[in-house]
Amino acid sequence: MRYPERLLKLVRALAGLPGVGPKSAQKLGLFLVQNPDTAGDLLGSLEAARALHPCPACGNLAEDALCPICADPERDKTTICVVETISDLMAIERSGEYNGLYHVLGGALNPLEGIGPEQLNLEKLFARLEGVAEVILATGMTVEGEATAGYLAERLNQRHIRSTRLAYGLPVGGSLEYADEVTLARALENRRGYQ
Ligand SMILES: [Zn+2]
Repeated sequence: MRYPERLLKLVRALAGLPGVGPKSAQKLGLFLVQNPDTAGDLLGSLEAARALHPCPACGNLAEDALCPICADPERDKTTICVVETISDLMAIERSGEYNGLYHVLGGALNPLEGIGPEQLNLEKLFARLEGVAEVILATGMTVEGEATAGYLAERLNQRHIRSTRLAYGLPVGGSLEYADEVTLARALENRRGYQ
């Protein structure tokens, strides 16, 4: 059986999304074609989301000059929590345990894949340390995350800035975004000085 080319094109685009297999892509494609109101809402949201851009201060997503966290006067400006990805930032926000600022690196050091300090959003972190008392190194519990935390701790130490590491209860080898809120809240509460 031949399918309409426009449907195939839509299904191919959906199959390119993370976590969507060929069968789900077909199901979603057919649903959208048959539910034009939902498809219209989705189209509008996608169009509006194109205006999102990286926050120039921290690397989180922003729709105004700064992201909502950097722009919030209630947040504690003396603490910066360094994370690999925006998903990790969202995981920590969900824990409800943290009220400081963030810095999103955009990945972790990985020499085998050619990711060195220059490939990460690092220099902006060192440019915003004025008045900062503590940097929480919340990179993943993976080899790359640990290497990144070690590198940052050393550079922060040179500037006499206290760095702490989340470890308590977090699964070794795991990414922060998959940890549940309670575990993350406890890991934050029990953070320890980096050695
Ligand atoms: Zn920001």
